[in-house]
Amino acid sequence: MTAPDPTLPRRRVASPPPTDPQTRGEQLAVAARALRAAEHLCIFTGAGVSAESGIPTFREALTGHWSRFSPEELASPKAFAEDPQRVWQWYAERRGDVRRALPNPGHTALAALATRVAHCTLITQNVDDLHERAGSPSVLRLHGSLAHVRCAAACGARTEAPVGAASDPIPTCPQCGALMRPDVVWFGEPLPMDAFEAARSAAIACDVFLSVGTSNVVEPAASLPWIAAAHGATVLVVNPTMAGQRTGPSILPIEGPAGVMLPRLLAEAFVGRRGRRQETPGGR
Ligand SMILES: [Zn+2]
Repeated sequence: MTAPDPTLPRRRVASPPPTDPQTRGEQLAVAARALRAAEHLCIFTGAGVSAESGIPTFREALTGHWSRFSPEELASPKAFAEDPQRVWQWYAERRGDVRRALPNPGHTALAALATRVAHCTLITQNVDDLHERAGSPSVLRLHGSLAHVRCAAACGARTEAPVGAASDPIPTCPQCGALMRPDVVWFGEPLPMDAFEAARSAAIACDVFLSVGTSNVVEPAASLPWIAAAHGATVLVVNPTMAGQRTGPSILPIEGPAGVMLPRLLAEAFVGRRGRRQETPGGR
């Protein structure tokens, strides 16, 4: 999997999806057909995929001691300036949640899907490393990474997050001595522009856009599937509920958990077929 190459020709799905498949079986069959024909698959994941591995969402984690705080009091530049140790401890505990979690069948199916198409871009809004641990080699991160920390004074230093107790003192920047902070996007901060532009380019260029475990309501990332649809891609939406999702002739809802629906989709599309990368060693 690589970031989209703007010089690659845009390849179209051979046959457009028939409109309004009625049953889940029909939906999976139509989605499978689109995946088989896809030259460039764009996968876009959100908190639902991590939740299926038992990682609490940001708000779900606001329990016990943390229930006294609002999200903005734990995840904003202002909060870090006012009480860096509190913010540091919150993220150290979130890092612990991730270390204890394992990739689920949804993560595994997505890693396998990537080997079945000529070109795959995986975009995530999650800050854990479960895609990588499931075998997805390249992940475009829109919200940063819990596994890394960076200089709060923005000198550019970035290192792996230390493994230690949540109450450990905050490490200082090896370059300038300022405090290090979690390398994640906080409330009030923009998305990393390079990653978002790469994601947007992939949404425009792909044949099939697979949205998984996200309600697609928090902008600007939420617009990615609809950008893909507007540029002619078939959009597959895998989520336990379709509330808040857009509808349209090229948008195919696949209602259910990712860990259930993605393995089914993979089997429907490719069972008994060899992966393209295996057929063309050397990436020809
Ligand atoms: Zn620094």
